[in-house]
Amino acid sequence: MDFDLPPDDDPTRQQVRAWLRDNPSPTGRQLAEAGYVAPHWPRPWGLDADPIQQLVIDEELRAAGVRRPANPIGIGWAGPTILHAGTEAQKERYLFPLLSGEEIWCQLFSEPGAGSDLANLSTRAEQDGDEWVVNGQKVWTSLAHHARYGILIARTDADVPKHQGVSYFVCPMDLPGIEIRPLIEMTGGHTFNEVFLTDVRLPADSLVGEVNKGWTLAKVTLGNERVSLSSGGALWGNGPSASDLFDTVRAAGGVDDPHLRQRLAQLWIEAEVLRLIRLRTVTAAVKGTQPGPEASIRKMLADEHGQRIMGLAKDLAGARGLLEDEGPLGQPDLHGWHYGFLFATALTIGGGTSEVQRNIVAERVLGLPHDVDVEVGKTWKQARAAESGR
Ligand SMILES: Cc1cc2nc3c(=O)[nH]c(=O)nc-3n(C[C@H](O)[C@H](O)[C@H](O)COP(=O)(O)OP(=O)(O)OC[C@H]3O[C@@H](n4cnc5c(N)ncnc54)[C@H](O)[C@@H]3O)c2cc1C
Repeated sequence: MDFDLPPDDDPTRQQVRAWLRDNPSPTGRQLAEAGYVAPHWPRPWGLDADPIQQLVIDEELRAAGVRRPANPIGIGWAGPTILHAGTEAQKERYLFPLLSGEEIWCQLFSEPGAGSDLANLSTRAEQDGDEWVVNGQKVWTSLAHHARYGILIARTDADVPKHQGVSYFVCPMDLPGIEIRPLIEMTGGHTFNEVFLTDVRLPADSLVGEVNKGWTLAKVTLGNERVSLSSGGALWGNGPSASDLFDTVRAAGGVDDPHLRQRLAQLWIEAEVLRLIRLRTVTAAVKGTQPGPEASIRKMLADEHGQRIMGLAKDLAGARGLLEDEGPLGQPDLHGWHYGFLFATALTIGGGTSEVQRNIVAERVLGLPHDVDVEVGKTWKQARAAESGR
């Protein structure tokens, strides 16, 4: 890391502190209108903040115990894509309610036959007068049951190679023809859904960007990551971290078993490596250079590290860990270790599987040959016909 965060008299720091004195318990709408939800966005939605200013704002909000609205898909993915390619009317309509958390968003991308190979998607959108008629099925749609809108990618031309015939839409989730069926996880929780779309009529102004140029926008969506010095928690920053586990072990008087001690030391080393990789990514952003391979490497390492934290917490609970409310070493489950143990298995799948991350590292970092693509030169329709004949 070769930057220091500015001291107490830094103007941004002073401005945030003064604002927090006037707004000690801000609502999502107040945070959004002040530009503090996504400070790196352009005005009026953000503050055009550079990476250092973002980090200062993050630090001040955290110190004041202020949490930003929870709307991960809206703020993290839909918003940046609309900013990038949306019309002025779309920006005006969607961005503030999305930043304030008043309108939750979901992502209608994955399908039963299109996950890692997302461009294989077969949900169709056909133009009918001013409207688009959508038919198909999506799956693993997190938060669909709470969402006001979804970002939807659908096939608008089947007679071109698969990446070229995809368009990007905003889909109001209360339209006739949308059926949301819950998928209950092994945690007992309900985050995901299957979404069935039958003759759903999207208005003309639902299209984002140009017809058949949606794949480029889908890549904008998937590649968008805010500069953040997040806590390093194990469940994509939302769960307990290795240091929470060390605190729990210390509070219980430590462990003698040499094998368990070795696993704890291994986790400490991994957490430190991840912290340093994160600082390298932030340093690159602060210097205005593109982050290198750190982001892909970090995702792969962090998700597997998260599973090992949860696995060790469970092992430290021993046989009593079979009961839901037992934490490590006879401690109460204050950090949600049981839920985390069950949910952590999803981390190496969501947001690009670990195998796919390794492919990216192999190709872009190590310069190894690209995955064999049997569909080169074929239209989406020809490729699917060949597939069904196999
Ligand atoms: C927690 C979580 C949240 C999610 N939320 C959403 C959401 O809100 N919206 C949404 O649209 N989707 C969501 N998903 C879906 C997610 O994006 C997909 O599960 C993921 O892209 C993998 O696709 P798949 O499940 O179809 O697996 P597949 O792509 O079928 O993969 C099956 C297996 O094959 C391996 N594999 C596939 N291709 C290759 C290759 N080229 N080389 C080596 N191995 C390969 C994979 O690594 C995996 O082990 C979520 C998933 C999870 C776990």
